[in-house]
Amino acid sequence: MDFQLNDPSLLKHQGFINGEWLDADDKQTFAVTNPANGEHLGDVASMGGAQTRIAIEAAQVAQAAWKAESAQARSAILERWYALVMANKDDLAKIMTIEQGKPLFESSGEVAYGASFIKWFAEEGKRVYGDTIPAAQSDRRGIAIKQPVGVVGAITPWNFPNAMITRKVAPALAVGCAIVLKPAAETPFSALALVELANRAGVPAGLFNVVPGMDAPAIGGELTSNPIVKKVTFTGSTPVGKLLMQQCAATVKRTSMELGGNAPVIIFDDADLDIAVAGALLSKFRNSGQTCICSNRIIVQDGIYDEFVKRFTAAVKDFRIGNGLDANSTHGPVITEKAAAGIHAKVENAVAQGANVIIGGRISDLGSHFYEPTILTNVNDTMAVFREEIFGPVAPIFKFSTEEQAVAMANDTEFGLAAYFYTENIGRTWRVSEALEYGMVGVNETAITSEVIPFGGVKESGQGREGSKFGLDDYLEIKYICMGGLNR
Ligand code: NAP
Repeated sequence: MDFQLNDPSLLKHQGFINGEWLDADDKQTFAVTNPANGEHLGDVASMGGAQTRIAIEAAQVAQAAWKAESAQARSAILERWYALVMANKDDLAKIMTIEQGKPLFESSGEVAYGASFIKWFAEEGKRVYGDTIPAAQSDRRGIAIKQPVGVVGAITPWNFPNAMITRKVAPALAVGCAIVLKPAAETPFSALALVELANRAGVPAGLFNVVPGMDAPAIGGELTSNPIVKKVTFTGSTPVGKLLMQQCAATVKRTSMELGGNAPVIIFDDADLDIAVAGALLSKFRNSGQTCICSNRIIVQDGIYDEFVKRFTAAVKDFRIGNGLDANSTHGPVITEKAAAGIHAKVENAVAQGANVIIGGRISDLGSHFYEPTILTNVNDTMAVFREEIFGPVAPIFKFSTEEQAVAMANDTEFGLAAYFYTENIGRTWRVSEALEYGMVGVNETAITSEVIPFGGVKESGQGREGSKFGLDDYLEIKYICMGGLNR
């Protein structure tokens, strides 16, 4: 399949440290493959702890000058980066599709979504206000100012190889921090293309470093232990997030954690069924079910259960899985053969406990990376599809009778990222919104994200918020200044 780029120089194979493209110090590389067909896309420098340390030290030097710049000067460079990302949108989308697998229209949407964070934080970075504080003593005045935390370590996943990076790098740079990023090993090309464009935009050397590598514990170990790094921001699985938090404790680093989810979508009897089916479909199967806010559990009230399953199944039958570069594909592969096997194991676990497979339920004949869109009924809360993040195109449809029961089912998980529900009852809208133990709630809507909203979870889905005016807070320290001796 053709993946010619308008600008082939965006496809980089080295790491980027202190403004320079570098091989690994021991010349090690790792292979990147297309999940749709196993095609070898290239070999990328596999850096480790020592080069991560060099990047951190370069970041420290660069940050000292960057924080002294005006917010306007930083903003102007971010605006140029935004413009370059948008100008190269088609190439960035193709790069994403070949290494991640999602259909081109989804990749293109993600590039624009990712770019929106750069634009947003270029603007918000100019609005870092402090406070004046009425003093407790008449001869003093108090103020609180906000300053950049300093050098930031960032680790990102493969499922959104562009937006999960810009959502961290843009606010960090906007307020005067420097950043050292380790992208996921499956999707380094998107990260390397982004830093190439940042470099072209004039981001000074050392401020944005990308350290690709196969040895995540070595790179993560350096980012979490080096005392120069003042903050670690992570998007990925809950177990790795917990490990990084433990590692950060030794030097009391600040952390932001965007971790796993187990989103419920509740459909009440009084919902507009067409809207509910469309919303649940979008949320369940986007990126072949590989988003942290994908509906994991579809929970439907008994009065409309059969009709919902009928309409939902009819829509899923129209899906066309295939290579993301093929314009006919509505859904791509999952990221690895291992991921497909893990998804199938969850389906088998449900079937062994009595679940019915309405459609799908198997690895596709297209290849070991493709899992057939699947619908399960007769499912219950002891099954892995209820308890665990499925991260694949499998929709278990649970049944409930009362509002109280639906809320209890929705909250019966250690996760708390996103939840959705459909109802036309205004009282229920408020009751259920307030009762759901989640960081984000969509009412009659599952497409809830954009750069203007505070994205993040509660419970074991993480801490901190990305995007919105709150997205700057994670990269800022508050400093109190007391001015005394006014009566002298
Ligand atoms: P993952 O296995 O936790 O990996 C995420 C990143 O952590 C990758 O860069 C990975 O590197 C790195 N990593 C793995 N082990 C590490 C270690 N010991 N030390 C330092 N870094 C380490 O997660 P994933 O499978 O890529 O992503 C899927 C997960 O991310 C899901 O749980 C999903 O819900 C979550 N997610 C959450 C959000 C959110 O905003 N809350 C958004 C997107 C995804 P390698 O690639 O080299 O292994």
